[in-house]
Amino acid sequence: MKFHSFLYYFFPKRCPACKNLIPPDSFFCDSCVLEYLSLVRSDSIKGLDFPAYFVADYSGCVKKAIHKFKISGVTSIRHDIARDMSRLYFSKMAALNPDVMIPAPSHKSSYFKNGYSHTDLLAREISKIINVSYCKGALVKTVKTPPQHTLNLKERTQNLSGAFSVPDSKLPLIKGKNVLLIDDISTTGSTLKECEKTLKNHGAASVSALLFASTENIFNGNI
Ligand SMILES: [Zn+2]
Repeated sequence: MKFHSFLYYFFPKRCPACKNLIPPDSFFCDSCVLEYLSLVRSDSIKGLDFPAYFVADYSGCVKKAIHKFKISGVTSIRHDIARDMSRLYFSKMAALNPDVMIPAPSHKSSYFKNGYSHTDLLAREISKIINVSYCKGALVKTVKTPPQHTLNLKERTQNLSGAFSVPDSKLPLIKGKNVLLIDDISTTGSTLKECEKTLKNHGAASVSALLFASTENIFNGNI
C-alpha cells in the first residue's frame, strides 16, 4: 500500500462543501463540483489600479471550502486551492514576472487561534507549483482591526489605514521587486489596496495580487 493510499484509508477525504467522501485527488464531490464550475470566473477584480485576479465567486461551495480551510482547520484542501490559483496564474499572470510572493498578513492573534496562517500555507503550496519564491512575514499587520464586513465603505478604508508594515529585515526582499500578493479572499478590496500601498511605500517596483475568491459586486458600486 502506497503512503498516500495508507493515509486515505485512515483519513478519507471529504468534500469541503457537503462532507461526502471523495477520491483523494478531487476538490469537491461530483455534485458540488458542478456548482464550483459555475462559480469559477478566472477574472480580474475591477476598480483597482493594479492587476488582481481571482479564481471564483465567494459563494456557495467556495464559501464553505474557505470556511473549512480558514476556520475549521481543514488544511488539506490548501493543495486543491493552490492548484486552481496556480492555473489562473499561468493563464493570466505569468507575464507579470513576479520576483517574490508575499502572503497577505493576518493579525498575530489569528495565529494563536488557528496555529497557522492560511495565506502562508497557500503561498508555500503555490510557490512549489509556479516556481516563484515566497517570503513569510514580509508584510505584517501591526494593528488589530474590526472585521471589514462589520463596517461601511468609509470605515473600511479608514479601518486599515496604516495597519500594515514591512519589517526592516525584509526590506531587501521588497525593494525594486515585482511582488505577487497572495490572499484567499477579497470581500471589500480595502485590504488589497492597503497592502499594495504599503508594499509600494517600501520600495516595491510593482504589485499584483492572486486570490482564490472575491465577492461579485464589491467593486461595482454596490457597497
Ligand atoms: Zn459535495
